[in-house]
Amino acid sequence: MENYSKILGYSIYNKDIKSLIDDEIEWNSKKVVLSGNPAILYEGLNDKELNQHFKSSNTIIVPDGIGTVLLCKLKKKKLKEKIAGIEVLTSLLKVCSERNKKVYILGADKDTLNEAVKNIAYKFSGINICGYRDGYFKDTDKVMEEINECSPDLLVVALGCPKQEKFIYENFNKMNFNIAMGVGGSIDILGG
Ligand code: UDP
Repeated sequence: MENYSKILGYSIYNKDIKSLIDDEIEWNSKKVVLSGNPAILYEGLNDKELNQHFKSSNTIIVPDGIGTVLLCKLKKKKLKEKIAGIEVLTSLLKVCSERNKKVYILGADKDTLNEAVKNIAYKFSGINICGYRDGYFKDTDKVMEEINECSPDLLVVALGCPKQEKFIYENFNKMNFNIAMGVGGSIDILGG
């Protein structure tokens, strides 16, 4: 089976989460992992810039949600399995804790974020969270500075969809990171 399935002009990752984490995600090239739920894929059809980014080789689109799997089925493109964004996030955090990689988390409200950081540090012992900041900031330049001081291997962005995707792509060239991922409400889940 090919690694990607083509639908609506997008290439959607079409293997299991283990292959995604072990083989597809490289830690030496700058990439965005996009949780491809129907809402963001639809947004990408109506936004020229997002569309270009989603189709670029910088992006790995993961089929997030039953809606995307059904969409592919309707188009007679069978997907191996749905891969939920939170599963990808927790798998990436596990890799980071095992391989001593740096993580920066941006997003959610202050209290939720603080709880999430504590829970992540507990669950993924030894993880290097090099910085974090809530998602209700005004000074984007300051946020860029903080991210770049840290140069994270993994940049987690929880600003809701499509704000987080726009943030990542608009600032793609200004930020030093290896893998970036918009995670929607996942920080709320980890902070709960
Ligand atoms: N959020 C944020 N800044 C904003 C808007 C949202 O940090 O300007 C956070 C919000 O607190 C929540 C997360 O984004 O933690 C995801 O929100 P939501 O569940 O609405 O996103 P979805 O999962 O629907 O994309």
